[in-house]
Amino acid sequence: MSHILSSVAWPYANGPRHIGHVAGFGVPSDVFSRHMRMAGHDVLMVSGTDEHGTPILVQAEQDKISPQALADRYNRVIVEDLQNLGLAYDLFTRTTTRNHYAVVQEMFRTVYKNGYMVEKTTMGAISPSTGRTLPDRFIEGTCPICGYDNARGDQCDNCGNQLDPIDLINPRSRINGETPRFVQSNHFFLDLPSLVEVLARWLETRTDWRPNVLKFSFNLLEDVRPRAMTRDIDWGIPVPLPGWEDNPNKRLYVWFDAVIGYLSASIEWARRRALATGQVADADLWRQWWNSPEARSYYFMGKDNITFHSQIWPAELLAYKGEGSRGGTPGIYGDLNLPTEVVSSEFLNIGGRQFSSSRGRVILVRDMLSRHQPDALRYFIAVAGPESQDAEFTWEEFVRRTNSELVAGWGNLVNRTANLIHQNLGALPPPPTSPTEADVALLRTTELAFGEVGRAIRAHRQKAAAQGAMRTVGEVNKYLADMAPWRLAKGDEADRARMAEVLHVAAQAVSDCNTLLAPFLPHSARLVDRALGFDRRFGDEPVIEEVTDLDDPSRQYPIITGDYGRDQPRGAPHWGRELIPPGQGVPAPVPVFRKLDQSVIAEENERLASESLD
Ligand SMILES: [Zn+2]
Repeated sequence: MSHILSSVAWPYANGPRHIGHVAGFGVPSDVFSRHMRMAGHDVLMVSGTDEHGTPILVQAEQDKISPQALADRYNRVIVEDLQNLGLAYDLFTRTTTRNHYAVVQEMFRTVYKNGYMVEKTTMGAISPSTGRTLPDRFIEGTCPICGYDNARGDQCDNCGNQLDPIDLINPRSRINGETPRFVQSNHFFLDLPSLVEVLARWLETRTDWRPNVLKFSFNLLEDVRPRAMTRDIDWGIPVPLPGWEDNPNKRLYVWFDAVIGYLSASIEWARRRALATGQVADADLWRQWWNSPEARSYYFMGKDNITFHSQIWPAELLAYKGEGSRGGTPGIYGDLNLPTEVVSSEFLNIGGRQFSSSRGRVILVRDMLSRHQPDALRYFIAVAGPESQDAEFTWEEFVRRTNSELVAGWGNLVNRTANLIHQNLGALPPPPTSPTEADVALLRTTELAFGEVGRAIRAHRQKAAAQGAMRTVGEVNKYLADMAPWRLAKGDEADRARMAEVLHVAAQAVSDCNTLLAPFLPHSARLVDRALGFDRRFGDEPVIEEVTDLDDPSRQYPIITGDYGRDQPRGAPHWGRELIPPGQGVPAPVPVFRKLDQSVIAEENERLASESLD
């Protein structure tokens, strides 16, 4: 048993999330976490909404509401969508909690005290007409890198490069069009050059990462410069230093604070647990995942986020611990663990291009789940998603996989087996007294699959894992077709005795396949269990709870959380064969998956076209 931290990328709260987002960070992290729980590990899965930064401010201005109101709105939408998809977070929170502020400020103070935050003078913009600071987002101009005409002061949305306002060609104020005046402005920079050696030494120990992620991460080290960790912006976490704290136009940059969310969410989870159990010491439980050398941590994200997880976050942790060339000592959080593995997905595309919310070329999680089963989407992402290369979403392929693999392959096997038992026996039959070669071979196949599928999930090869599980389903279907128990049912007494044996073997194999598929298809796993007469063998599913901010009683927000077997005497369901109990009543089955009519393809494609601005 190990402590496994499952760190899931933080969705940005400036709008609803689309299925490309959850293909990158959501489903892969959940499949992994569910499997690890079943394999007996103590998993802590954390994330939340990322609510600072310029895009939130820009969107809030457009909608004529405050940035906090905007973040509140989309935090709730995202919480509901991720819970409906069945993502089993121990805690899904947000970056505007007081707890997060306090953790981020402690990280900053210690990194600063250790000497890794260097103050530098840069050129900041002010409005010549008012004399006031012009925050980065109010400055537009031509991108010096790609020539895009509407680049913002902090970033070019066309080429994605980080910018400083003074880099812009023909800068202008978005408020009144005037040309800003540049004056000296002080900022803190994370001194990456003093951390590059220790970062490289750490990366050299990460031999089992996906090769593309490792290569990308090493490349990042070839040209490191100090990176600004504060900005001229009025939305974010105050810089906790005298002379800075009260300046409303200086804030920690969203890049510094968002990655600290993994730590602050773990701390919030432990603090909430201490409240629930009444055990004060439980507030320190997070340390089992962060300070213990045996703990392992896995970070899940899309490829556009690798930089933050293989460079910025490890650099912040090393600076906090004082392990760079400037030395230093850790603050109150102690010797924090670096990521064991950074697991990044490629992009899910549509029509050969990336999803784009602004172009309306998008399928929102919410819309998808209002019309389709969550497990159908989870399955598509697992078997056809962007695991190691960009993948394409099409409704044709979604309907085909749902109908041929989930409905006709797996659902039909469950239905046929349960129905034969229900009609002919009414309850699960006992195992054969002298099993045939075919019986033994099938049960060996399904038992061996636990090793194969489990290894693939732990190696983050979920496509291979899902395919392995479905191949096993195919073997059970073949066994049933060969044994034809429906024919035996019409025969003499010996035939009927053999039928019962065959149905025992089939039911045991179905139960095995259900456990194999449960990390991918958690909602249907319960239905399959019920079809075999089980009552609640799988742990709780994620729930939404309305909570009060731990340090600000005036503030409420929704979290995703759940039990997942941690407190159940039987624990979570076990990754491996559980023997089915003979005599257990088997009810008349109901279909597990909904077959999709072919007309769905045209309807969905039409809906997509009508919303697109392309
Ligand atoms: Zn550009």
